[in-house]
Amino acid sequence: MFNASMLINGSQVPALSGRTTEIRNPANQELVAEVPSGGRKDAEMALEAAKKAFPEWSLATSALRADLLHEAARLVRQRCEQIARLLTQEMGKPLKYSRLEVLSSADVLDYYAEEGKRNFGQWISSPRSRSIVLRQPVGVAALITPWNYPVDLLAWKVGPALAAGCTVVAKPPSIAPLAATEFMKAVNDAGLPGGVVNVVLGPGSEVGAELVENPISKKVAFTGETETGRWIMEHSARHLKRVSLELGGHSPFIVCEDADLDKAAAAGAIRAFSNMGQICISVNRIYVAQEIAGEFIEKFIERAGRLKIGNGLEQDVDLGPMASGSQRDKTREHVADALQKGARLLLGGREPDGAEYSKGYFYQPTVLSGVDHGMKVMREETFGPVAPITTFETVDQAIGLANDSQYGLASYVYTESLESAIYAAERLESGGVGININNVVDIQAPFGGWKQSGFGRELGRQGLDSYLELKHIRIGL
Ligand code: NDP
Repeated sequence: MFNASMLINGSQVPALSGRTTEIRNPANQELVAEVPSGGRKDAEMALEAAKKAFPEWSLATSALRADLLHEAARLVRQRCEQIARLLTQEMGKPLKYSRLEVLSSADVLDYYAEEGKRNFGQWISSPRSRSIVLRQPVGVAALITPWNYPVDLLAWKVGPALAAGCTVVAKPPSIAPLAATEFMKAVNDAGLPGGVVNVVLGPGSEVGAELVENPISKKVAFTGETETGRWIMEHSARHLKRVSLELGGHSPFIVCEDADLDKAAAAGAIRAFSNMGQICISVNRIYVAQEIAGEFIEKFIERAGRLKIGNGLEQDVDLGPMASGSQRDKTREHVADALQKGARLLLGGREPDGAEYSKGYFYQPTVLSGVDHGMKVMREETFGPVAPITTFETVDQAIGLANDSQYGLASYVYTESLESAIYAAERLESGGVGININNVVDIQAPFGGWKQSGFGRELGRQGLDSYLELKHIRIGL
């Protein structure tokens, strides 16, 4: 069994109260680890440590910060196997995807090591003065993250925050804190001064709330549910904190009449079911041109049926269990709601058979047709392996349906026509649009939501901006 600890002021520590919680593997309920369960006092101590470390770190050269971030990336890669195994054991995703997540997190650190060097200011000439514009770190940043990509989504915050010169306190998710904490320890082991990176474990309602409400943190970077984001924004407002919110999504996937159906079916099935649909940019609603709907559905079901389900530690597994019983219950509820309102079940719709699945939160990839926007699967975030499919007659109709959502994180369009692609991309209401590609994440480009999917951007140059304040220095001549 793995014994986890928190990280405060450069030291690995238990919770002040001595309280711990168990982490169990969602594939079989085996005990994986005991982790400290901190509270408000632990969070406050971490904030104090980050505050103390801020002056020196904020004034360090970008070259020094870059060297340390590159070293952190090297250590994360070196420890990839250990971190990836913990990730699979705590939240279920297959080991091959856990490895990719850890490696991509190291890439994010490398990217921001260099992007931090390009934190250029401005020089402005005026008749009787000169102006310099500096971009300086905002202060202590609280980083609060969810369980579906606990390492990656933390790296998206830690990388730019450190490159900008902020010190940080991270609050990983309670059901999957292990890999994120080990990732942060690797970052710390790169040689950062004590207190620059801190990790506090414990309930969001205590640790997370303290990080938001305590005036020491000047910035809150959050990824998670829209409701939690709303709470965070309300409570950050008291101290006018900088906030970036990456919230829920409900991504439409439009397949035009002229699309390459093999590519669209394969890409759609991967993005609908990978990570058991527990992805904020998962394919949640599929709109297919009426003329090719039958052919597309056949190919889609064939691709979905090929996915192998099992314990994420086994070889060649494509899908693990869902991360928790409550996630599976919500999926069941959404499928039942759709069927009761007239949807047709084309695949899945229940747990897989077999003793090996009996103790885990498994659920089969599920395909529904005959769906409409009165059903929960078409309006609410299922966060499960469910692909509802319906048809459209014109591209304008498809765009209207796609935009008929409170969310606006990602949209996807499959078409061979450049004109249709541009027409749709300009009209879809989301922070990212994938044209003939099922992923809108690229480290070098901004990622984030419109509407109730939040605001602020991570990744790219914009990811660094959100940890910086502007300062105008005016020199009289
Ligand atoms: P939650 O909002 O429940 O939790 C996210 C984090 O916030 C956890 O660390 C949680 O702690 C913490 N938290 C909970 N309550 C508070 C509070 N009052 N103050 C401060 N922190 C708090 O989300 P989930 O973990 O369930 O993650 C799934 C959600 O994340 C989905 O809606 C998904 O769409 C979204 N998401 C969005 C992404 C995006 O980029 N837009 C990417 C990935 C996921 P604890 O675990 O202890 O409850």
